[in-house]
Amino acid sequence: MNAMSAPPPVRRALVNGPIFTGTQVLHDHALVLEDTRIADIVPRAALPPKQAWLDVDGRLMVPGFVNAHHHAYSALATGCACAPSADFMAVLENLWWKLDAALTTDDTRLSARWTALQCLQHGATMLVDHHASYGAIRGSLQVLAEEFECAGLSAVLCFEVSDRHGPAATASAIEENVTFLPTPRTNKLFGLHAAFTLGDATLAQVRAAAPPDEGFHIHCAEDALDVTRNHNALLARLAAFDILRPASLLVHGVHLTDAELQAVAQAGCALAHCPDSNMHNGVGALDLVKAHALGVRVVTGTDGMHSNMLKSYKTAYQLARHLHHDPRVGFAETLAMYHATQALAARFFADSTGRLAQGMRADIAVLDYRPHTPLTDDNIWGHLLYGAAEAAVHATIAGGELAYQAGVCTTIDVPAMTAACHAAAAQLWQRMRG
Ligand SMILES: [Zn+2]
Repeated sequence: MNAMSAPPPVRRALVNGPIFTGTQVLHDHALVLEDTRIADIVPRAALPPKQAWLDVDGRLMVPGFVNAHHHAYSALATGCACAPSADFMAVLENLWWKLDAALTTDDTRLSARWTALQCLQHGATMLVDHHASYGAIRGSLQVLAEEFECAGLSAVLCFEVSDRHGPAATASAIEENVTFLPTPRTNKLFGLHAAFTLGDATLAQVRAAAPPDEGFHIHCAEDALDVTRNHNALLARLAAFDILRPASLLVHGVHLTDAELQAVAQAGCALAHCPDSNMHNGVGALDLVKAHALGVRVVTGTDGMHSNMLKSYKTAYQLARHLHHDPRVGFAETLAMYHATQALAARFFADSTGRLAQGMRADIAVLDYRPHTPLTDDNIWGHLLYGAAEAAVHATIAGGELAYQAGVCTTIDVPAMTAACHAAAAQLWQRMRG
C-alpha cells in the first residue's frame, strides 16, 4: 500500500467532563484519541466541531486503573462450598490448593475472561496476575495472555511456583515461567507462591532459571506461618536466593518487622498491599502508614477478592485510620500508593504511564460521578475516596477502544461466557470434592 492510499488516522474526542490526568485536574478540556493513543489534551474550545465522539455528560475521566496483584484463577470459586477453615493454612488446603489442582485449561480461559470483564466494569485496564492452575500448567500463561488481550487489557503474567504438588509439578511451573513469551499487551514476572511452600533446592533452581533482570512476584509474610516456617528469617532467606531485586513485587508484608520493611525499601522492591484480602482471611493487616514512613514503595491490588481498585484504596484508607486510631492518617499514604501503583504501567509497557498524557496508550475510565463540589488538583483524592469510590464506572476505554459502557461490554460475549462459567464451575466443584 502506498502512502497516498493509507486511510487517515481516526481521531475522536471525549468531551464534556472534568479530566484527572493522574497529576492534574483539567476543566473544559477534551481528550483527543487517535487509534490506540491519546493524541492530545486540548481546551474544549479548540476542538473542531465535528470531532466530538463521546459526551461524558459531566462525569469524571481518570486514567485506567492498574491492579498490582490479582488472581484470575480464583474466578470460579464464587459460591463454592468448602470445609470450615480455622486458620490460613486450612483456607489454602480446603479451597485454593484443591481448586488450582482441579483447574483445566478451559477453566483458566473462562476465569481470565470473567476477570477481564470485572476489570473493565471497574475501570481497570492493567492487571498484574499471579496464576496457579496445577491441574493444567503448560500453556496456561498463553491462555491468560490471549483472553486479557482480547478483552483490551494489558497484563503482567507469571505462574506461581510451589512445591505443594510435588517435584514434577514444580519443574513444570518453573518451565511455564521461563517459556512464556510476552506479547505486545503482556509482560512477565517470575512467579513464586510463598517461601513456606518452596524448598531450598527449588529456590536454587528458580534463581538459575530466572533472567537476572526479571523481577519475582511472590506472597511474602501474608500470615505468621510464612515467618515461623522460614525460621523467623523470611527476608534473609529471600535475599539469600536473590529474590529481593528492585524489579520484584512482594505481596502482603503483613508480618514483616520494621527492620525487614526497611530491607524491602533498601532493596527497592515494590510491596503490594491487599487490604480486603487480609481482612477477609483474618491474617492481620499491613501497617501502611509505617511501611510508607520507612520508605517502602507500597502499591495495591485486589488479590482475587474483586477487581475494583477504588474499593481497595477506600479500604486501605479506612484500615489505616482504624489501625492507628487516628483520623489524621491514611490520606497521604493512599495517594502515594495510588501514584506508585499507576507507575507500574510504565515499568512494564513503553507506551503506558498510568496517566493520561499525549502519545500514551488511551486507557481511560469514565466514572459515573459528576463532581458536585469544587474539584481541584488539591482535592481530587478526596473526590475519589469519598465520592467516586461509591459510584459505578460508566465507561472504560482500553487502548482507544470503548470496551465497556453503561453495562455493556463490547469485547466479551457476556451471556455465552456466563453460561460457560456456570457449567465449568459445577464440574470443577465436583472434581474438587472427588
Ligand atoms: Zn495473592
